Parts: sequence; structure tokens; C-alpha cells
Amino acid sequence: MSPALHETQPEDFQPLEKLRAVQDRKLEALGRRLAASPDWQAHLSRAGVEARDLRDRASLAAMPTLEKADLRARYPFPMLTVPGESVARFCATSGTTGLPVLFGFTRHDWEVTLVQQMARIYRAVGVAPGDRVYQGYGYGLWIGGSAMDVALNAYGAVNFPVGPGRAELMLQWLVDHAYTVTTMSPLWLMTLITQARKAGFDPRTQWRLRIGLFGGQSVSATFREEIEAQMPPGFRAYNIYGATESGGPNLSVSCPHSHAHDQMHLINEDSVLTEILDPRTLEPVAPGEIGEVVFTTLDKQASPLLRWRTHDLVRLAARPYDCACGRRAYPLISRLVGRSDDMLKVRGVMVFPTQVEDVIAGVQGLAKEAWQIYIDGDGHSLDQMEIAVERLAAAAASADDLVAEVHARIKARLGLNCTVTCHPDGTLPRYEAKATRVIRRTPRS
Ligand SMILES: [Zn+2]
Repeated sequence: MSPALHETQPEDFQPLEKLRAVQDRKLEALGRRLAASPDWQAHLSRAGVEARDLRDRASLAAMPTLEKADLRARYPFPMLTVPGESVARFCATSGTTGLPVLFGFTRHDWEVTLVQQMARIYRAVGVAPGDRVYQGYGYGLWIGGSAMDVALNAYGAVNFPVGPGRAELMLQWLVDHAYTVTTMSPLWLMTLITQARKAGFDPRTQWRLRIGLFGGQSVSATFREEIEAQMPPGFRAYNIYGATESGGPNLSVSCPHSHAHDQMHLINEDSVLTEILDPRTLEPVAPGEIGEVVFTTLDKQASPLLRWRTHDLVRLAARPYDCACGRRAYPLISRLVGRSDDMLKVRGVMVFPTQVEDVIAGVQGLAKEAWQIYIDGDGHSLDQMEIAVERLAAAAASADDLVAEVHARIKARLGLNCTVTCHPDGTLPRYEAKATRVIRRTPRS
């Protein structure tokens, strides 16, 4: 009899060689499935290959990558490899840059594959059956909330599928329901902590949360530590990462050991194979280098993806297979450092807005939510970067001191001299949804 979902599975700690053999076998099977799909035949033949050329990991590199534009061209059900009536449900991408793209799930995809992937994540962070879970991800076509529901149910957790929002009610219920686990945006937890304090609650003593699974928005170590300091002793904020395209929040999670180093395991490599590639050459990056996450779904029956380009950038750990937890088959990556479309090159130096955010988060006296990067240059050779920060009215440091500190920290972190300007409390733009941190100014003539 196989162990229950909450019990350690042999695959959790399998050797790398065994995992690679599983990947080879599943890639060959994927090739056979794609060979039966006219959409996939057309996509592959344009790159001069056939689905049956996919036999193992070695042959994967010859396969073309896939992008959102390839899917949009096959509206409304792109690359669906099963008959429509075999789809149990659809999920969709957010559609911030056009119509949402729909991905199908068979009953097996949803109730077996996804459930097993999420269970491995829960095991890695120590969720137990009977844990009371405040599920705060959104519902509807978005995959986050519904994926958690089906997986928590199978795992034996006690789910409170609240979804986002309802702060006032949740302040009461966080105390009365005594949730022990939460899945939500870390920014939302920060908002709840602030509001709880204002309302006279003390999260440190009145809440029972011990595990947070935070996706959707990558959390820096500084931000995470700030949250953990205000939570009940022992509470840990774990980053998770996944995508609608990969079939759920299923790609990576930090473990109790890698948590301290701000690293996550690619935890489901036997069902979603990940490559970390240089976004320009599409060659694998070396350990310690930054690359784009490109994945291939190995088990998905409906809407499988072969070499999907996420445009999300991570740093492959310097020693990817060396975590103290013993998960030798599941390499370590950093949290997301940015998106390949966010990457700036300033006088030849690679800069990501998240690096600037980390610096600002670590300086006392600055507003953490209000800052901007202004870039001057002709779009090819960016030669000047200005960082605008905001001094809190109650800050102990003067504006000049804050400017000097940010300048020195950016110099230390990126090796770059930039202009820093300090603005009064409340004067820089605030963003309700996704922030526009980088503003390109008119090229100088
Ligand atoms: Zn580990």
C-alpha cells in the first residue's frame, strides 16, 4: 500500500539518477502524446523536428520553446491534446496583456497529478492533516485558490476557502478560528498584521499561524523577516512558485533548510521538468548564474507544454544539489529575481527592480511601498539610473543621510553609481495593482 499523502514518499528523497531515468521515460511518452496532436505537429515541424524525436533529456534541447504568442494564435483552446469532453475544468492566465489563455485539466490532471504535486509541497514545509488553513488565494478561472482546495481536501487539512479580502472579518476569525496555516499573498498578510495592530489585536500572541505559503509575489528575505518578527514565535513564511501553464503553484517551494538562504527546491521535477536557461542563447546557465525558467509538463494529459518560456528569472544555486534536508534530486533556485522583460542594463551592469526593492526594504526611515527608478538613455545603452525614495515623516535620519545610505548600498550590491533623490512622505505614486517601478524618460538629444 502506498503511504498516505502526508507521509514521506520514496520519491521525495530519491537519488538524482533515478529522477533522471523517470524524466527520460516520461519525455518519450510525452513525445508519443504530442505526435497525435495536429497543433503540436505544426508547431514542431516549423522548427524542423517531430514529436517522436523527443526521446529523453538529451533530445529535449533540440525541441523549440513555446511562448504565449504561439498559444494566442490557436484561440480558444490552444494545444489541447484531449477531446473537449475529457476536460474536467479549465483555468486561465490573468490576461493582463490581452485575452486570457485557457488551459484544460482532465480529472486525472486535477485530482491526481495536481494533488500529488501540492502534497509534496505541503510535506516539505510540514503541513499536517487537521491543520486549519486560511486559504486566501483567488478563485474563479485563476488556478491558485481552486488548486489549493482540491489538494488540501485530499491531504486531510481543514480548509477555510476565504479567498482574498474581507480584512475586518478575518481579523476576528484569525483569533477565533485559530488557523495554523495560510496560503495567500505576503502583501495581504502584511496588511492584515498592520490592521490587526490598529484594531488592538496582537498577532504574536493571539494568532496560531505557524506556516505561510506565499506565492503570487516573490518575497525578499528582508520582507519575510519583517513579517516573521511580527508573527507568533516559530512562524515561517515560505515562498512557493508556479503558474497556470505548469498546472498550479507546483514548481518550487523553500524547505526549512533552504528558507534561511532564500532558496527554493524545484520540488516536482519528476512531473514538471525545469530548465534554467540564458534568455538570449537558451543555453543552460551554470550554477550561481541567473537564467529564465523554462519548463516541460511531464504528466499533464490536457494542455501539456513542451519547453514553455516563463520569462521569470531566477538564480540557480551555486550548489544546487546540496541542501541539508537531503532532497538530492530537486535543485535549489533563488526566489524570482525579476522577469526577462524587466531586466535593465545600465552601463553594462544587469539591474533588476527587485534588487533595488531589497535595498530600500533594508533602509530604516524609507516608505517601503513608494519608490521609482528613472532611466535615461536611448534604450540601447542606458547610462543613468535615478532612484527616487520617500522619507517617512517620522524617520530619524535626515533626507541627506538617507540618500547617502541608499547610494552606498546600491553601490555595494550592484557595483553601480546612481543618482538618489529623496522625496517627502506621500509624494511618490502609489499603485493599487501591479506597480510600474521603472520609468524611462525621454532620450536626451
Ligand atoms: Zn532542502
